[in-house]
Amino acid sequence: MVNAPQYSGRHYLHIFLMETTIIRKTLTLIPAGIVAVFGFAFLLFWLLERRRRHLAILSAACLLFTLGACSQILHLPPGVNANAVVSAVFYSGSVLLTAAALLYRYERPLPTVAYLSALGLIVLAIFCFSYVHSDLTVRIYIQNVSYGVIFTYAVWRLRHLARGRGVDRLLFWILLLLGLHFFPRTLLTLGLAAPRGLAAFVNSAFWQTLQLCLALFGTSLALAILAATAVDIIEELRHERDLDVLTGLLNRRGFENRFAGATAQSAPGALILLDIDRFKRINDTFGHSAGDAVLREVGKVLRQAARCSECLGRLGGEEFAIFLPDALLPDAHVRAEAFRLAISSHSFPLPDQEMSVTASFGIAERLPHEDYHGLYSRVDRLLYAAKAGGRNRTASNHEATGQTLG
Ligand code: GH3
Ligand code: MG
Ligand code: MG
Repeated sequence: MVNAPQYSGRHYLHIFLMETTIIRKTLTLIPAGIVAVFGFAFLLFWLLERRRRHLAILSAACLLFTLGACSQILHLPPGVNANAVVSAVFYSGSVLLTAAALLYRYERPLPTVAYLSALGLIVLAIFCFSYVHSDLTVRIYIQNVSYGVIFTYAVWRLRHLARGRGVDRLLFWILLLLGLHFFPRTLLTLGLAAPRGLAAFVNSAFWQTLQLCLALFGTSLALAILAATAVDIIEELRHERDLDVLTGLLNRRGFENRFAGATAQSAPGALILLDIDRFKRINDTFGHSAGDAVLREVGKVLRQAARCSECLGRLGGEEFAIFLPDALLPDAHVRAEAFRLAISSHSFPLPDQEMSVTASFGIAERLPHEDYHGLYSRVDRLLYAAKAGGRNRTASNHEATGQTLG
């Protein structure tokens, strides 16, 4: 039988103190762990969406923060001065990369040399107050004031976000609070002298509020950035859903949505439908890719001829639509003729230059309270009338007189 070892009270106290030190160290590593998890999330998002380079930059910023916190808490490298410089490099790099990622995302980037200069200046100052004249209080102030200035400057460059989408406004205010909090927090919790000794420093109000603020602002900022990125992706998908891939104009769904969004119930306006004449012949003679090229070209011609207020769409096949907000029938007729001539006079990239490309047009003015489908059916009938009338022409029907122009 093996006897259990006999521990004295001092042994138990020693083990307890060692364990509480381990627990304390583990607890202080929690903010770094949270940042590392966000860094991993940013990396995963970036791997899925390589175009969004700000996610890769943020992932690198999180990695640097985690390295800085680990170097400081685990005393790696062990010398006080070396540790101050190494952790300052990591923390400053992390702050600068966070600002760079946001400025890049919102298209207000700064040249790389600006970030490197800021990093060089901060690290040089920390080096001087470590090796030349060692002073922890000055080092703390240099780092906190620099980070406050960097974030506040980024907020100034991104001030347009204060009037942007909800998620951008949220990001703006979190970033502003993060930037500004560095000044009063340092002054109020540190005063004019840093606590002496490691234990006193870790227990100080400065260190504890720093940890709390970083956890609070860091998590809020990371979540706001992830939310802004998710909203970006949703908006882009919505935009792509409404676009015709061949011509870049709105597709049927996008056109109908735009019509509904652009018109009040009784707002005036006119709808033009156009259909390319004998398009099947182009496909049959030169193949479908030549047909596709003609469709793309018609889209280009319409875009060039259109005014800013006019809304263009490809409803399907070789049928296009143009909505003219506020236009009355005579103006719409003039516009349809301008589009028709733009197509018939355009030189299309077909092997046989003799084969002309023309289109027939139907137009109608919107009746009060008429919905899209009612207006569309009337214009569609007119388009058929234009085809029956010989093609390459415009047919419109004035509801009051029944007069047909063409
Ligand atoms: P009409 O003057 O009466 O309009 O004669 P059309 O030949 O233009 O009309 P029809 O409806 O007979 O033929 C339309 C053709 O358009 C048939 C279809 O294969 C072709 N088409 C529809 N969508 C596309 C497309 O995206 N690309 C190509 N290349 N062809 C398409
Ligand atoms: Mg046709
Ligand atoms: Mg057709």
